[in-house]
Amino acid sequence: MRQLKAAVVGDPVAHSLSPRLFAFWSKARGRDLEYEALKVTHAAFRETFTYARSESVWVGWNVTLPHKELAAQLSDELDASAEQPGAANVLLFRDGRAIGYNTDAQGFLDSLTAAGCEPFGTRCVVLGAGGAAAGVVAALRRSGAADVMVLNRTPERAASLAKRFGLAYGGLEGAAGVIAGADLVVNATAAGLGGGSPLPDGARFREGAWAVDLLYRPQETPFMAQARAAGARPLGGLGMLVRQGAAAWKLFFGDALGEPEIRAGEAHLEGLL
Ligand code: NAP
Repeated sequence: MRQLKAAVVGDPVAHSLSPRLFAFWSKARGRDLEYEALKVTHAAFRETFTYARSESVWVGWNVTLPHKELAAQLSDELDASAEQPGAANVLLFRDGRAIGYNTDAQGFLDSLTAAGCEPFGTRCVVLGAGGAAAGVVAALRRSGAADVMVLNRTPERAASLAKRFGLAYGGLEGAAGVIAGADLVVNATAAGLGGGSPLPDGARFREGAWAVDLLYRPQETPFMAQARAAGARPLGGLGMLVRQGAAAWKLFFGDALGEPEIRAGEAHLEGLL
């Protein structure tokens, strides 16, 4: 069988656990897959994408920050999952064409379900307005959340995302007041990559509210520590990573991973953190 190649493409990308996850599942399934972490700057993304699309060795890419929106724009065809968020975190390369998908949204919802969090009817706040936030907003709307508000450091970007879904939005300076009344707060910013939180010290959460950080390293991020201290229920991003990866695996190879394999993949990564 011809060896296939796949990659996670981003900048930065060295921290990504996707290569370990795909290596784990490839070994478990006996699949000969060469999977690498490809650091590509935003300026070089278009050229690298065009080259990869013309090669026949690639099954697909997992796309990470900051390229998801550009990946959607460059796709020859966009699956419905990537259309409304306007962000693709999976690219399939087939016969010289690229098809963009968004598995972040499904991975996010599946991780909530696995943790026992039901977003139906809840008041939600999404912090951030990048590719991941777009997937989260789409997922929360789809799952019947009563209300979703988008807050971002750059308010214009919050406006652009929120308007696509007809939602309220604002800057981060108003976050403290809004969060205190929310049932589900999602940190979809990249603030944690620099060791920080998008919220000010002492931010108040509603007792028992869910506080989900999409970041998965460290296991307890500054945002999660703030939420725990305020009586909220913190949840990290590892479950989402694994479940969006499982959805990408199905797109790449057509065979779905079972829940025990998904959980084994998550436990494997947990051991590496
Ligand atoms: P992105 O498109 O580059 O967007 C980054 C977002 O973070 C923007 O809203 C940006 O605000 C905000 N931001 C960056 N630094 C900040 C800071 N210091 N304070 C406040 N806001 C800040 O990135 P992305 O792809 O959406 O990813 C966002 C995060 O989600 C990353 O940490 C990524 O690792 C994580 N993620 C996890 C999973 C998972 O499976 N667990 C999946 C996807 C993403 P501005 O608009 O003002 O620049």
